Order: sequence, then structure tokens, then C-alpha cells
Amino acid sequence: MRPFVYNANPARVVFGSGTIKQLPDEVRRLGLRRPLILSTPEQSRHATQVEELLSSLGIESAGQFNNATMHTPLDVTEKALAVANERKADGVIAIGGGSTIGLGKAIALRTDMPQIVVPTTYAGSEMTPIIGQTENGVKTTQSTPKVLPEVVIYDVDFTLSLPQGLSATSGVNAIAHAVEALYSQTGNPVVDVMAEEGVRALACALPLIIENKDDEAARSDALYGAWLCGTCLGLVGMSVHHKLCHVLGGAFNLPHADTHTIVLPHALAYNAPKVPEAMAKLARALGNDDAVEGLNVLLTKLKVKRGLKEVGMPEDGIDKAADLAVKNAYWNPRPIEREGIREVIRRAWAGEPAR
Ligand code: NAD
Repeated sequence: MRPFVYNANPARVVFGSGTIKQLPDEVRRLGLRRPLILSTPEQSRHATQVEELLSSLGIESAGQFNNATMHTPLDVTEKALAVANERKADGVIAIGGGSTIGLGKAIALRTDMPQIVVPTTYAGSEMTPIIGQTENGVKTTQSTPKVLPEVVIYDVDFTLSLPQGLSATSGVNAIAHAVEALYSQTGNPVVDVMAEEGVRALACALPLIIENKDDEAARSDALYGAWLCGTCLGLVGMSVHHKLCHVLGGAFNLPHADTHTIVLPHALAYNAPKVPEAMAKLARALGNDDAVEGLNVLLTKLKVKRGLKEVGMPEDGIDKAADLAVKNAYWNPRPIEREGIREVIRRAWAGEPAR
């Protein structure tokens, strides 16, 4: 028998192709009169598309704030809040990846404004009550239902422009949530089903996207998988892999999705001896007899970077990262021992095969 506690988050999810057309109805359903549209500078054309759609149906917006930035820096949040106040915004529409969604959450945290989120990467933030924020270079994370979006509109069409490299690493970022959900201390059978299905969908779809970025069926499968994996992240606790990525990203300012992609097989290999059931489920989802090998095969197909040294981590950072990783460690199925963790980081830094 496996005892568990199951705790779901409220979620309204609209999924499909062309689903952005349902945005006006969702705005009306929430009673919003002047939502502020959020994006990054790179996605301002997506924000403009949203603004034009609303205005074509006579829905006023509070315009755009297009300066969302990775890791939700406090000064950017303050600027966005000032714009929201000045324009009397009564809600936010965040269109983009984890950075833009993070900004919407930061505004909701401080104002309780409703959020409509249109995710365009596979990172999964839209399904979690987690918000990470940065102040003076220090990132802190908190979990509160206040930041859960009221509505998530998944529109596959917006993911077609996600570059192939970022599609691959963002997809593996999603897989990482499911991997750690499968051996989570707070896991449960429902999350296991979502995690296995999420990994299966992404592992099938991502190589097809690398061959053809406009493959709509693969894009749809990948976004579906990302939703499931993001849901897992929002429901159960994560372990050493997420701790390592948090530490590495924060200490060396490494790119989020690349870091997850490089570290995942090594973190999984570290935990493998202690989690045979999770390994069997993952192996099945990856279509391989062995989960670590299955992940290695997938990463080779995706042509992603394999070493942290390739994304800007200095070699002398290995010891610093090991020290940080063992401090305030998250619960992990295998005890966190400094030497073992240092070896995980060293291998990931060098880009050696995981084993
Ligand atoms: P991102 O949001 O930083 O996006 C990377 C770049 O890709 C940006 O320039 C963005 O505008 C662009 N982009 C995104 N989608 C695009 C598309 N469809 N077409 C063209 N360009 C597109 O990347 P990310 O990996 O999604 O998010 C990373 C951030 O999210 C990190 O700060 C991470 O900590 C956070 N995150 C938070 C959670 C959570 O639960 N709180 C979960 C996952 C990630």
C-alpha cells in the first residue's frame, strides 16, 4: 500500500490551436475592463496581436508592458506596477514564457489582480503557485495560491515561433518537473500518471520539432506534455535536480532551460539506485530499457549542449556549487552527500555522459 495526500490546485485551462480567439470571452468572464498586456521585448508582436484582438471586439486594455525579464527582478516589477496603477489596470494578460508569467505573478502577488496567461514555452510556470523573484542579485522563491493564474490559454500557434534550440531545452525543463514528481516525497498516483504521460508526449514530440519547427501535431503534443509536467511541478515537491539548477542558475547566472537540460541526466543517475519504480515508469515513457540511457538518447537527438562549461560556468565554480547545493538541501530520495553531489556537478560541467 502507498499512502498519500492529494491536493489539487484550481485551474481553468483552454487548450488548442487558435484558442487566442477565446481570450475576449475569458476577459469578459472575469469581468476585466482594462487588462494590462505583459510580454518581453522579443515578443512585443505577440502582445500587439492580443491588444488588437481585444480592441477589434471593443474591449479596452491598459496597453502593453513589454519589459519582462528572466528571474523577475524587483525593479522591473516595480516599473510594471507603476504602469498598471497609472493606467488603472484591473488585471493582467501575460503572453510569453516563464519570465513574462513570473512578472504577471509578481503583480498578482502585490495587487490580487486576476491573471490570464498565454504560455509560449514549455517551462510550466503557469500551472504552479510558485514565484521566484530577484533583488540585488539574490533570488528567493515562495509558494502561494495568490499567484495562480485564473485562466491559462494554451494556443499551439504561438509556440510555432519558439526557436528549435529553446524548444528542445524548454521541453527538457518540463520533463525535469515530471522526473522529480515521480520520486517526490509528496507524490501520489494521479501525479504519477500525469508525469509519465507528460514525459511520453514530450519525448515523442521534441525530436520531430527539431526536424521541422512547424510540425503542428508535434507542437500540440509538446504543449500538452508541458501542461502535464507543469501541473506536476505545481502539485508536489521537487528534489536535488531542481535544487542544483536553482543554485547553478543563481550563482553563475546560467540560462534556465539549458541548465535543466544539462543537469537532468546526472541528477537522475545520482538518484537512480534509490528509485526503481520511478526509473521503470520513466524508461517506459522514454521508450528505452533504461531511463538514464533513454534520456541520453533523447538529448543526443535534440542536439543540445551537454556541458555547463559551454553555457558560461567557470571550472572553479564546481566546489562553490557543491557547497551551496548541500546547504538547505531539498528532501531527496538519496541522501545528499557533498562528494557525490560534487561529482554530479563536475560531470555536468565537463559534459561527460551521465552514469
Ligand atoms: P523565457 O520566458 O525567459 O523566454 C526566453 C526567451 O524566449 C524570451 O526572450 C522570450 O520572449 C522568448 N520566447 C518565449 N516564447 C517564445 C515564442 N513562442 N516565440 C518566440 N520567442 C519566444 O524562458 P522560460 O524558460 O520559459 O522561463 C524561464 C524563467 O521562468 C526563469 O526565470 C525561471 O525561473 C522561471 N520559471 C518559473 C517557474 C515557476 O513555477 N515559478 C517554472 C518554470 C520556470
